[in-house]
Amino acid sequence: MKLLLVNDDGIFAPGLVALRESVENHGEATVIAPHQERSGMSQAITVNAPLRLTEVENGYMLDGTPADCVKMAIQGLHLTPDFILSGINLGSNLGWDVLYSGTVAAALEGVLQGVPSLAFSLCGAAGYFSVAVDIVNELLFHQPGFLVRPELLPEAGVLNINIPALPRAKIKGVRITRLGVRNYAGVMQRREDPRGNDYYWMGGEPVLPDSKELDIDLVAVEHGYISITPLKFDTTYHELIPELKERIEQA
Ligand code: MN
Repeated sequence: MKLLLVNDDGIFAPGLVALRESVENHGEATVIAPHQERSGMSQAITVNAPLRLTEVENGYMLDGTPADCVKMAIQGLHLTPDFILSGINLGSNLGWDVLYSGTVAAALEGVLQGVPSLAFSLCGAAGYFSVAVDIVNELLFHQPGFLVRPELLPEAGVLNINIPALPRAKIKGVRITRLGVRNYAGVMQRREDPRGNDYYWMGGEPVLPDSKELDIDLVAVEHGYISITPLKFDTTYHELIPELKERIEQA
């Protein structure tokens, strides 16, 4: 089995080391990752600047976005992976955050390139990457055919997998989920730079969901479950089509 590993935290991120560790001895893994952190890039691509590719141990570093990395691997280097694995991201990718996530977008780009793809995120402190290594390994390989099976991942779908940052014994299991509503408090923080000028820093703290529905991704993780959400590209609002058609006809 040929695996392509990608991320948005950059080639030197501990989460990429963790991902490599989790697939060790399971086929041939090639890495391609941005030369620096490119979180929050979504599926941005670089079309008005050169892309510089550098060979590194076990793969490549690119001065581009996560989606650039996947495009480069498939279209530039003509790699033919059986699966693309993205992550392991430092920090959750839950609810609406999937719209901003470079980790998820790299997996979506993988699917656009015709390769079944999965995204992995650790929902908290880097100290739990060792737990995440075991979980990713178990999900991918302990039950052969459970996740790593092309027909399970339809043409335009990825699996978005979020792992709670908890000791192994405290993780309660796996929930198949849908996206929740992710809100943040204090998103724009105003600070002062050393020259006395104001600047803003975007961040904020996630508002914890008051729902107890364990089939919602961020609720599942909050309650100690690994969340697996299937995502697809088609953002068409299908339910609105008949009504819009009717209105157009009446107008
Ligand atoms: Mn990231």
